[in-house]
Amino acid sequence: KRNGMGEIRLYHPEMADAIEKRVKLESDLRHAIETRTGLELYVQPQLNENRTVIGAEALIRWHHSERGMVSPAEFIPLAEETGLIIGLGDLINEQACQIIRQWQQLGLNDWVLSINVSAPQFQQLDFVDKLNSLLKHYEVPAGQLKLELTESVLMQNLDEVIHKINELKQLGIQFALDDFGTGYSSLSYLMKLPFDVLKIDVSFVRDMFQSKQKEAIVQTIVQLAHNLGLKVVAEGVETEKHFDYLSSLGCDYFQGYLFSKPVAEPEFRQQNQ
Ligand code: C2E
Ligand code: CA
Ligand code: CA
Ligand code: CA
Repeated sequence: KRNGMGEIRLYHPEMADAIEKRVKLESDLRHAIETRTGLELYVQPQLNENRTVIGAEALIRWHHSERGMVSPAEFIPLAEETGLIIGLGDLINEQACQIIRQWQQLGLNDWVLSINVSAPQFQQLDFVDKLNSLLKHYEVPAGQLKLELTESVLMQNLDEVIHKINELKQLGIQFALDDFGTGYSSLSYLMKLPFDVLKIDVSFVRDMFQSKQKEAIVQTIVQLAHNLGLKVVAEGVETEKHFDYLSSLGCDYFQGYLFSKPVAEPEFRQQNQ
């Protein structure tokens, strides 16, 4: 490792540590998916303007045996890069159907469960068939399921994406456009795609009052969505002030720590049933 002229240093101890950590995390995640251990769908309530719970967003949690809780912000990107998102996504969709089935059995058939779907998952040729089989297997009404897609899904072959969304909509599944405003959203997407709901990202809502710009963006998004006939969900609602302002803008649904953090499903049911 002489650092002579023209020599390229390939080895950095910190880099090696980071790679090692990543390799370990990947193999642990693979193991967790294969053995179906430690991965649990949490749910966070979504409420209407009267503060009635209308459903929940499903958010995956990983209880790691050594590290404790690992954030999805860390392992979902890893899963997407390594292809593990396919197996993980199947597991998530199945747990989601199990939750809805339970709601059904308890007569809770107004609640809609929203699940997050990554681009590589949605791209699978058999995505529609697999989801449809799950719904049938668990005898779950498609109307109680909503898929949250981000703009990254739409960056693929748009015609194919539209076709797939329409197939799923025909089954009765609803669609939300997630993280609106954070990516390269083109307004043309919004007009071409049959979304039911548009979600304003946490990053806009959380510090909405710190900048007049963010406040204006939120207001504009709500108006735009309504003009296109879409409902609006605001996520990251942390304070009464957020709730009041967003309500005054005509926001339809609300989600955030003001009401509840994501919790295990039995806890959610206990709080809201
Ligand atoms: P997301 O889909 O935008 O989910 C919203 C995130 O905001 C969640 O973080 C949620 O816990 C958090 N959040 C909710 N209310 C508040 C609030 O009032 N304040 C603040 N500061 N944050 C709030 P989480 O659960 O850590 O998930 C992070 C991201 O990981 C998600 O962002 C989503 O992109 C991804 N993810 C989580 N679960 C899944 C999953 O099951 N499948 C896929 N494909 N991605 C997932
Ligand atoms: Ca989401
Ligand atoms: Ca996201
Ligand atoms: Ca978001």
